Amino acid sequence: MNEVDIAIIGGSGAGLTAAIYAARARRRTAVFERKVTGGQIATTDVVENFPGFPDGVNGFELAQLFLRQAENFGAEMRYEGVTGLRLEPDGRFTLSTDSGDQAARAVIVTAGAEYNTLGVPGEAEFTGRGVSYCGTCDAAFFKGQEVAVVGGGDAAVDEALFITRYASKVHLIHRRDQLRASAVLQERAFANPAITFTWDTVVEAIRGNGQLQGVDLRNLKTGETSTLPVTGVFVFVGQTPSSELLRGLVELDLAGHAVVDLQMRTNVPGLFAAGDVRTQSARQLVSAAGDGATAAIAAEHFLAETYGAP
Ligand SMILES: Cc1cc2nc3c(=O)[nH]c(=O)nc-3n(C[C@H](O)[C@H](O)[C@H](O)COP(=O)(O)OP(=O)(O)OC[C@H]3O[C@@H](n4cnc5c(N)ncnc54)[C@H](O)[C@@H]3O)c2cc1C
Repeated sequence: MNEVDIAIIGGSGAGLTAAIYAARARRRTAVFERKVTGGQIATTDVVENFPGFPDGVNGFELAQLFLRQAENFGAEMRYEGVTGLRLEPDGRFTLSTDSGDQAARAVIVTAGAEYNTLGVPGEAEFTGRGVSYCGTCDAAFFKGQEVAVVGGGDAAVDEALFITRYASKVHLIHRRDQLRASAVLQERAFANPAITFTWDTVVEAIRGNGQLQGVDLRNLKTGETSTLPVTGVFVFVGQTPSSELLRGLVELDLAGHAVVDLQMRTNVPGLFAAGDVRTQSARQLVSAAGDGATAAIAAEHFLAETYGAP
């Protein structure tokens, strides 16, 4: 394939929105996706907080709408993983893909992130049906119910507090005897009567019969095992940004997210990062889409200044 103006790596909320903007600006646009259109959101049954869908929308179907809209403007979808990204001496980029190299004048990396999992029996089976990695997204489904939150960092405590708006009780399960979350979050959590703490404890299995019914726990200090009856398990044991292509190429933060400015520009001209892969992301579909639009507009300015109008 000939050189494209804008290559987008990742076909989810950020990438497909960037594609809509880039292709609509009459730029030759190709989107590379190694798995399924929609990324993280494709695994979500009901998205209730994306504007325009007052009754909620299935995540996979929403992503298909994004895709159709991008293709309507002429973006080309390529179901290939990008395995390498190189900056050439003339400022252009080369993407290595499963089926060869692709030249691009500008690149928007929207490779997202993957939530770390517990890796225990039952977790995969109940993901999206009781097991969640996003309290902001899924807490509303647990109104009046008892749930477990696993983790002890900022995300776990912040989300546990949010989840108490819906759940009747939140059992925070942490493998250590103190939280790692910031002091102010800890204060709020300890003051919240709906949160109880189970220390020095790990989840060994997630159980249910069609519906999630509880978690098997083991105390790391005493070895004692128990079962906690809950209908939801929220897992916050870290998230890993899919930024391996950017390592050594652009500045990354300590957790490995791409450092960008307000226009989603990395420190390499012509190379942008948007959505969950960038630093300080709100980690929501709507913010990923907003980032994608911002990055595509900035990429268009870069192309116009560097190479002229389409
Ligand atoms: C279970 C769950 C439920 C959620 N529910 C909600 C919700 O209700 N509301 C909400 O707003 N948000 C929700 N979120 C968060 C939301 O899904 C993410 O914030 C959003 O999808 C981020 O979009 P993104 O485009 O940045 O990245 P991602 O969705 O992570 O997509 C990145 C894409 O890039 C692809 N990719 C990565 N590397 C490469 C490569 N080298 N080559 C080619 N392709 C590559 C991946 O396969 C993936 O498709 C949820 C997340 C999860 C996990």
